[in-house]
Amino acid sequence: MSDAPQFERVAIIGIGLIGSSLAHATRANGLARHIAGHDSDPDIRRRSEALGLVDSMHDDVGDAVAGADLVIAATPVGACGAVALAIRDHLAPGAIVTDVGSVKGAVIDAMAPHMPEGVHLVPGHPVAGTEHSGPEAGFAELFRDRFAILTPPPGANEDAVARLVAFWRALGSDVEIMDAEHHDRVLAITSHLPHLIAYTIVETASDLETELEAKSRDDDVVTTREVIKYSAGGFRDFTRIAASDPTMWRDVFLLNKDAVLEMLGRFTEDLTALQRAIRHDDGDALFELFTRTRAIRRGVIEAGQAGRFQYTENGDSDD
Ligand code: NAP
Repeated sequence: MSDAPQFERVAIIGIGLIGSSLAHATRANGLARHIAGHDSDPDIRRRSEALGLVDSMHDDVGDAVAGADLVIAATPVGACGAVALAIRDHLAPGAIVTDVGSVKGAVIDAMAPHMPEGVHLVPGHPVAGTEHSGPEAGFAELFRDRFAILTPPPGANEDAVARLVAFWRALGSDVEIMDAEHHDRVLAITSHLPHLIAYTIVETASDLETELEAKSRDDDVVTTREVIKYSAGGFRDFTRIAASDPTMWRDVFLLNKDAVLEMLGRFTEDLTALQRAIRHDDGDALFELFTRTRAIRRGVIEAGQAGRFQYTENGDSDD
């Protein structure tokens, strides 16, 4: 195999956690002769340049993608349509356009109509991340031993898909190919619902804390800030997940609405069954459930998905 970079010019649009990690990893693995960058935020462009993340940073997204053979939209999913519209007249013939969004059906709907003839759209989603945002948050190893899911639309150019598979493998990822609808249902239960639960439980605890504080002023019995003080008891992990980027997660829930609502319905039914088991002192039901879930955790560990740089979308990060 030749040592030549896989791509002449990789353009990364959106230099946040994922975009900056892609810049680090692309460079560390020698996958591009030139890495061009763009972010809509001038301050982020300036900070990315100061960090030396890319070879050239562009105020204009069209300049960033001009001549690129791989263009990666690493913006929140809600911005992918606007990005596609802004770049379409600047894309080189034969270019591969991909993204990293956590929702795939909506991204295809938003980007595909803007793709010129001869440009290949192959959407993707690295199942890898942390709760941190911004260009300083990225690191080259983020994608190592994590899954990268590609969702090429029917009839996608096979060579373009193969090149993108090779790119993600070179970043250390295990690549899976699936259709966008399936991706969105799987991620709704493994990632989106756990985030929704984390956001809810942190909000509930915070409301409770406010009540406790009010009570302590009245009768001087309950010490304040107990929720934070005793957060090691499981709550801490929820607070980490609930610290994830608000823009990103707003877009995920709005753009994967049907699958999330379906999974939420199922979850609510199971929660009600658990509530009943507690009310009726049904220890056997609780014990059996907790034994089954413990086995599932062992499966996650055996599949190598419980390691150091974990994806917050499934709640396993330990940083
Ligand atoms: P992030 O750290 O917030 O970075 C996104 C960057 O894109 C921000 O700098 C943002 O600028 C910029 N941006 C927004 N709209 C833009 C536009 N129209 N043109 C150019 N730049 C634009 O987000 P992230 O965590 O890297 O997530 C990026 C994508 O990766 C999302 O689609 C997300 O679903 C996906 N993803 C995230 C994770 C994770 O754990 N974080 C994991 C896997 C996949 P402003 O902040 O000024 O808007």
